[in-house]
Amino acid sequence: MTQIVSFIGLGAMGYRMAAHLPKHFSKVLVWNRTSNKAEEHATTYGTQAVTLQEAVQADIIFSCLPTSADVEHLIQPLTIKSGAIWVDCTSGVPESAKKLEVQLKEKNVAYLDAPVSGQTIGAENATLTFMVGGNIETFEKALPAMQALGKLIKHVGDSGAGFAVKAVNNMLMAVHLCAACEGASTLKSHGVNLQEAFECINASSGQSTVTSSVLPQRIFNRSFPNTFALPLLAKDTGIALDLVQNAKLSAPVIAASQSLIQAASNLVEPNSDFSTVAKMYEMLNKVTIE
Ligand code: NDP
Repeated sequence: MTQIVSFIGLGAMGYRMAAHLPKHFSKVLVWNRTSNKAEEHATTYGTQAVTLQEAVQADIIFSCLPTSADVEHLIQPLTIKSGAIWVDCTSGVPESAKKLEVQLKEKNVAYLDAPVSGQTIGAENATLTFMVGGNIETFEKALPAMQALGKLIKHVGDSGAGFAVKAVNNMLMAVHLCAACEGASTLKSHGVNLQEAFECINASSGQSTVTSSVLPQRIFNRSFPNTFALPLLAKDTGIALDLVQNAKLSAPVIAASQSLIQAASNLVEPNSDFSTVAKMYEMLNKVTIE
């Protein structure tokens, strides 16, 4: 049976992700709040710009919005096709996934929390990692559509598990980001050349994606390209901290990192790239990380 696929939310991620779908599905519907982006997408990639109500008549409906609150608000008034699968690629809140799974099931719509990692370059190259929570049979049915957009696609548990894994992943990245900015500031204030220092670190045990890619490609060269907004990272670290607190755990590194990321998000220009966390350290320490 020919499946109709739709994509809701053509932002930094969604615009690039939805571009791959026409290579695999003959009918791909797109909707975006700012409609001219959807029309431009249709012209460029052979998708069809439709109304929101039309988009939710697809067999598989992807969404990629900033927050779970946005998804809940969007879904509430809709009459979604019975039998459809909603694949939510937002980096969202596990409790919201559990709630949406139950609410949508009453309407015979299945829901998967399916956040992604790999940044905009991964979306562009269809090499994203999907971490998926929800019913396993639903996962298997939606797998070919996710495979059109990603490389590693893992079912990680029941509803909410995908969002939990994503929040912890982004928290780990935030911890590395804060620690790397602190380490780089220390080296700089001791007169060490950062390019050479991080060549050594990137061949050593302190290496991470932050040291090998974020520092050289975004911070040292002062480009701070706007691909992943710092408030979105602050949202993710907040979700991770909520998970810690709900489980009544002690996690001082996570708590400190959440405070630092939130403070940086409050300090820099609205919607700056996540790498501008470095600017907070530069203000605090009066050194430039370059
Ligand atoms: P953007 O801010 O670039 O895009 C957000 C999209 O959501 C836009 O299409 C926007 O529409 C739409 N939108 C915003 N609010 C609403 C609303 N209330 N109702 C309907 N549509 C709305 O975000 P990203 O694409 O960067 O991020 C999307 C999700 O993916 C987030 O949860 C983020 O954490 C996650 N993510 C982001 C990555 C990245 O590198 N950017 C990497 C991995 C995950 P409009 O065009 O009208 O503003």
